[in-house]
Amino acid sequence: MITAEELHWGCAGIALAIQGSGLAAAGIAASGTPEQIAEWVPQCFGSDDQIALGAYAVTEPQAGSDVKSLKTTAKLDDEEWVLNGTKVFITNGGIADVHVVVATVDPELGHRGQASFVVGKGTPGLRQGKKESKIGIRASHTAEVILEDCRIPVGNLLGGMDKLNRKLERARSGQTAGSSNALATFEMTRPIVGASALGIAQAAYEWTLEYLADQTVDGGKPALEEQRIQQVLADVATEIDASRLLVQRAAWMGRNGIPMTGGQGSMSKLKAGDVTMWATTTLMELIGPYAQTTDCPLEKWFRDAKIYQLFEGTAQVQRLVISRMQARTYQERFAEAAEIAKRAVNRSARSGATSEPAATAA
Ligand SMILES: Cc1cc2nc3c(=O)[nH]c(=O)nc-3n(C[C@H](O)[C@H](O)[C@H](O)COP(=O)(O)OP(=O)(O)OC[C@H]3O[C@@H](n4cnc5c(N)ncnc54)[C@H](O)[C@@H]3O)c2cc1C
Repeated sequence: MITAEELHWGCAGIALAIQGSGLAAAGIAASGTPEQIAEWVPQCFGSDDQIALGAYAVTEPQAGSDVKSLKTTAKLDDEEWVLNGTKVFITNGGIADVHVVVATVDPELGHRGQASFVVGKGTPGLRQGKKESKIGIRASHTAEVILEDCRIPVGNLLGGMDKLNRKLERARSGQTAGSSNALATFEMTRPIVGASALGIAQAAYEWTLEYLADQTVDGGKPALEEQRIQQVLADVATEIDASRLLVQRAAWMGRNGIPMTGGQGSMSKLKAGDVTMWATTTLMELIGPYAQTTDCPLEKWFRDAKIYQLFEGTAQVQRLVISRMQARTYQERFAEAAEIAKRAVNRSARSGATSEPAATAA
């Protein structure tokens, strides 16, 4: 978390270019067998001499938040999977050494008919489409990934055939899904996105403090002694710190294996993203017209901040995830409390029944 925040303090684009491979690695770690993890995760990063990149390709033109509607297909043909479809806005897309592609095996089953596949470097049928020109994080490569009859070995299905067949069988027979691995994985990866956003907010805050230390307002009063400026700086510092504590709580829970059933991972990313966008905007307003020029570094932090409300689940989608997880957690807690109360009443009724003859005798 600390490394992510510090690297993003320097430049969020370069930091994401370095960190982007971690998404592919997380996708492999979430679904792969131990052998697949050992084989593919190191290939997402390479070595000191030969740096490699990973890409995690889920989003499509009509499916990002609405992940159940993915159109990219994976069809088994003899001993190979054949992938067809278009992915959009993929970090390291088309230039990565390892692409993890989420595709549908059975579109009728929505997200329960999907699986993840590894496509190794140089595999025919995978190519980069349009490269995006972005307002922020410009040092990070974002592009379409086009899959046209892209053939990969059957063993590149993450988790293996038996696991996929069991999952499809459960879905087709109408059995309810267990707790979602993907949801649990996102809860674990989102705090690092929150920490990344906070690096930008912290940089903007520190630069503003330093800049204002040399400025004066009406009649030569030091800017940092002006109450209207102090009010804003206090709010920015407090919001950044509050977000950092949410990020660190979620990271601590992940590290100690405590399930984030209340959406604590999503909360940390939501709050950090919103605070970073708000803080960079607010600090620009504080500085005034100079902040509108490209000479002022705040404009870069402002442009870099926006993506943290958009990717890895938009802020609106984070709110949906949090409210659903909260509702489920509280329903479980209420049911548990009702069960404890019922047992207590039964126990007390039983002890009442046994103590009554003694009382009568007395
Ligand atoms: C720079 C960049 C890098 C990216 N990197 C990757 C990557 O490496 N891999 C990858 O797979 N994807 C990546 N993405 C895609 C990104 O994760 C998605 O664009 C994002 O999750 C939004 O999904 P969407 O495109 O379907 O938008 P939409 O869901 O169409 O969102 C449009 C708007 O509708 C709102 N909305 C949608 N559904 C709801 C709802 N139910 N309730 C309320 N509001 C809603 C959204 O919040 C948003 O404001 C990247 C995107 C960018 C810009």
